[in-house]
Amino acid sequence: MDVLGLTFDEVRAVLRPREHEVKPLRAVYRALVCGQTPPDPTETPLPHCAALDADVLPIDRRLEDGDLTKFVQRTHDGLEIESVVVPMQRTHGIWRTLCVSSQVGCARGCTFCETGQLGLLRNLTASEIVGQVTAAQRDFAGGIRNVVFMGMGEPLDNYDNVIRACRVLMDPNGLSLACERLTISTVGRTEGIRKLARLGWRRLNLAVSLNAPNDEVRSRIMPINRLEPMATLREALLDYPLRKCQFFMMEYVLIPGVNDAPEHAREVADYLRPLKCMLNMIPYNPRSDSPWRAPTEVEVQQFLGWLEELGQGCKRRITKGRSQMAACGQLGNRALARRRRRASAESG
Ligand code: SF4
Repeated sequence: MDVLGLTFDEVRAVLRPREHEVKPLRAVYRALVCGQTPPDPTETPLPHCAALDADVLPIDRRLEDGDLTKFVQRTHDGLEIESVVVPMQRTHGIWRTLCVSSQVGCARGCTFCETGQLGLLRNLTASEIVGQVTAAQRDFAGGIRNVVFMGMGEPLDNYDNVIRACRVLMDPNGLSLACERLTISTVGRTEGIRKLARLGWRRLNLAVSLNAPNDEVRSRIMPINRLEPMATLREALLDYPLRKCQFFMMEYVLIPGVNDAPEHAREVADYLRPLKCMLNMIPYNPRSDSPWRAPTEVEVQQFLGWLEELGQGCKRRITKGRSQMAACGQLGNRALARRRRRASAESG
């Protein structure tokens, strides 16, 4: 039984261990899901323990860029899952944030995003999502502190598997990540945002890719906006039950000549004014064959300055990982996606 897609209670419900078997079973579950070696089988001679397994996909490639690491796992059907480990120095040591993928490719087709150029190949299972964390825990000595759904794919397009994966990640019998350590980042699927609101996970962090000052620009670079324009998105966010000290993280990929003019800053500030939010500025990381360049530091600082003058709280994402196509918006293997499409067209 693959434990990566199951909480311990679900494992228990299937195996129905007797009371004295629960503790050793839990120890095996925890070790497997955390990427550790399970206790010696001679010390846990229960048939139930032998039934557990963790289908952690092997790491096929590791690419380093400074202190950032992208790793690639190959799925059983020959696709690739990309994840990125981002370390952060803190007073008590290094915290690592893991950026996980929820799909291979993505159907949303944002024009600035490498993953969007792949199209959707398929959703990841909950086991494949949790398996990224388990592999990273194993390879980075258990130092994964935060998990952000900002890798390949739109998490709310794979809602059930993403939520199942979150339940496994938060399970106190296993990885035991606190809900506030998880962030779901969406392109603005309002139905999914409303479903998340109903879930009642008040500590879950929500990030939203805004990336544009108005509907005209947003529809041009993010096709989702033609279905769900900015006003609809804001309505869903206004209805979302934030905690007192919580705010949305609104992501803004700054693309020179597209969304970086002074009037754009004014429009963005006006749009965000009713929302409790922080704007997270991400200098554009060019995808392959990009029609746009990355902004200069002067352009980034200028746009941030305009927003701050308008009273909009901002953070700036430090650019890391560009040289290995590991930065935000750069994940995905286009050549592999093309080969897969060709192969499936030929076979059928
Ligand atoms: S930005 Fe996100 S939603 Fe848009 S194409 Fe890329 S992965 Fe998909």
